[in-house]
Amino acid sequence: MEQNQQQTTVEQQAQTDREFMSIALEHARTASSLGEVPVGAVVVRNGQVIGWGFNLRERGKNALHHGELAAIHMACSRLGGWRLFDCDLYVTLEPCPMCAGAIINSRIRRVIYGTGDPKAGSCGSLVNLFEIPYNHIPQITSGVLEDECAGLLQTFFRDLRKEKDSKSKIVQKTEDQQQLLF
Ligand SMILES: [Zn+2]
Repeated sequence: MEQNQQQTTVEQQAQTDREFMSIALEHARTASSLGEVPVGAVVVRNGQVIGWGFNLRERGKNALHHGELAAIHMACSRLGGWRLFDCDLYVTLEPCPMCAGAIINSRIRRVIYGTGDPKAGSCGSLVNLFEIPYNHIPQITSGVLEDECAGLLQTFFRDLRKEKDSKSKIVQKTEDQQQLLF
């Protein structure tokens, strides 16, 4: 009986995680539609989204414009304080060292991410900053809606490569035409 109850709680948590990751994915799609690398994040407290954000590095021309930081910023503003002890952060891509640091500093309870980042992931891929005994250690759950989160990034970069290829073909064509002229 106890085991059944535990299982139900685990399943409920997994369902809740998928629901909030879907919202983070919506924000990632918005980033993609703006030509930004699609990463989205939400901060959740008592079952409610109190902060959200997405990557805006290109438009903002700023290396700090990551989705997690925007979501944490909004949550702190709404709550009127910097301690997010009872908040969870959902993000489609494993946080980088800057965002992992912000997560520790803002005392986020739990981090749930979609897909790992072999290039900058700091919650297990390259390094796990949450294993180091800082004054706060968030819990981690990874792989929530992983295929969707990874798929969105893959599609974005594939389209980007296609666009670059077609541009370089146009340049080549123009060069060929110029050679014909001279
Ligand atoms: Zn980051």
